[in-house]
Amino acid sequence: MKQEHKGNKSYLPSKLCVACHKEMTWRKSWEKNWESIKYCSEACRRKSKIS
Ligand SMILES: [Zn+2]
Repeated sequence: MKQEHKGNKSYLPSKLCVACHKEMTWRKSWEKNWESIKYCSEACRRKSKIS
């Protein structure tokens, strides 16, 4: 089930984690570096550096 309503007031940007491909939704703490966010968590960041 996918929701793709445009004009939704509570819409937040989202993108996929490059490590686990889970969708991550914009967070306030990512406000300043959202463009460079690639991983949903520190765990994913580390995991992807290993391989
Ligand atoms: Zn992830």
